[in-house]
Amino acid sequence: MTNESLIASLSELVGVSNVLYGDPISNQATSYWNPAPIQTIAIVKPGCTEEVSQLLSLCHERGQSVVIQSGGTGVCEGADPSSEDVVVSLERMNQIIDVDRNEMVATVEAGVILQNLQETLADQNLLFPLDLGARGSCMIGGNVATNAGGINVLRYGMVRNLVLGLEVVLMDGTVLSSMYPMLKNNTGYDLKQMFIGSEGTLGVITKVMVRLFPLPTSCQCAMVAVDSFDAVSALLHRFRAQLSGTLSAFEVMWNNYYVGVTGEGKHRAPLSRDYPFYIIIEAEGFDESSDKLRFERLLSEILDDGQILDAVLASSERERREIWMVREEFDALLPAYLYDVSLPLGTMDEYAEVLEARFNAELPDCHPVLFGHIADGNLHIFAGPYVDEAHHSAADEIVYSALIPFGGSVSAEHGIGLNKKAWLSQNRSEDELALMRSIKQVLDPANLLNPGRVI
Ligand SMILES: Cc1cc2nc3c(=O)[nH]c(=O)nc-3n(C[C@H](O)[C@H](O)[C@H](O)COP(=O)(O)OP(=O)(O)OC[C@H]3O[C@@H](n4cnc5c(N)ncnc54)[C@H](O)[C@@H]3O)c2cc1C
Repeated sequence: MTNESLIASLSELVGVSNVLYGDPISNQATSYWNPAPIQTIAIVKPGCTEEVSQLLSLCHERGQSVVIQSGGTGVCEGADPSSEDVVVSLERMNQIIDVDRNEMVATVEAGVILQNLQETLADQNLLFPLDLGARGSCMIGGNVATNAGGINVLRYGMVRNLVLGLEVVLMDGTVLSSMYPMLKNNTGYDLKQMFIGSEGTLGVITKVMVRLFPLPTSCQCAMVAVDSFDAVSALLHRFRAQLSGTLSAFEVMWNNYYVGVTGEGKHRAPLSRDYPFYIIIEAEGFDESSDKLRFERLLSEILDDGQILDAVLASSERERREIWMVREEFDALLPAYLYDVSLPLGTMDEYAEVLEARFNAELPDCHPVLFGHIADGNLHIFAGPYVDEAHHSAADEIVYSALIPFGGSVSAEHGIGLNKKAWLSQNRSEDELALMRSIKQVLDPANLLNPGRVI
């Protein structure tokens, strides 16, 4: 089948205006991280599950490969198509179908932007606790496909803990509905979990039932500075133990990250720029006066004990946003190679030292800058500046091989996609990889859906 006749058939299914190709998309960036013009036969925008089913079925019959795109903020090139692929974009499937406050469940289409869901729920004093810097662009389907983490994992868990039900369309067009709103449902294999974090290799997620929580009514936020990683760990334990379960974020930045994103022409530095470590600590609760009192008392005790060097407390939402901008808006460090590893908290400091020493010895023109969701054992690293792909590979080799003695993982929350495939076997045994391939073979034997991703 020629591309022209494929485009004509796809247009018949979803409408001419929902199939884009040629000039109208020639300047469209591939994704958030990849500004190169998108390469694809066509971008197809189905408006409902039935259309997803029909278009996958058509592609299946024709042996046509498909790449799924939601917000395009994923970090592993998983949603970056080639010129041979058709792109399925979920952006038109953006309805919040139902919010059930009795069951504490929201049912949404996969193309709902995370921030839209957060804001709609907040108007009803409800919370879907997934939160990440890409909230304004990423979509729930992409979040589920990547098992996203973000800044509230220490309190609420990753997406895997937040999804109750899922509707998925398989490559042959089968609509698989596991839309069960119950938290407990031990009826055989929990099939939805197989699709969560599968990065679009097993099916297209079209609807999701997510867990809701009461929206906290108080929020305390501070940035503190400490002089060692031991002090970081000690503070984490102390805040966890003494904040009565209200600790919701604990984000750590090494000095070189903080210095890189603050200063002239960059973010205003809330604290002086010469401390070894900076931590953003946030607690959310339901009783403003007692929460505030407890948070401020703990902070002042810790200051008196000498456990922290300096601190700034946000006294308004504007000050809170200023603190968070330092952590969430890191353009000043780009372009650089981004890594997302996890390892036991107790080994993180040593890993950071090994990295520093190895970059100095093996790739002296490349500098690792560290920050991350430390309470989850999740470290992000920017290594740069960007030079070329050979340089990038040399940096990969240092970051990933240095994890081995610590039993760390090459992906904490971003996934594998295309660009970490070579490293998957560092963390997964041959038996595990063989089982993954068997599952893929059963669901997509012709390897048409997000081909070449993950395995
Ligand atoms: C500023 C910034 C901050 C970030 N912070 C975090 C963070 O704290 N934690 C974190 O985990 N990630 C973070 N990310 C990465 C990214 O936002 C997440 O991976 C997010 O979940 C991707 O969602 P998306 O809608 O953009 O998906 P996309 O990038 O469009 O897709 C990601 C992958 O999922 C597949 N996919 C997308 N939609 C579907 C679907 N409906 N069905 C099946 N497969 C699908 C794609 O094919 C691709 O393989 C950040 C990114 C940015 C730009």
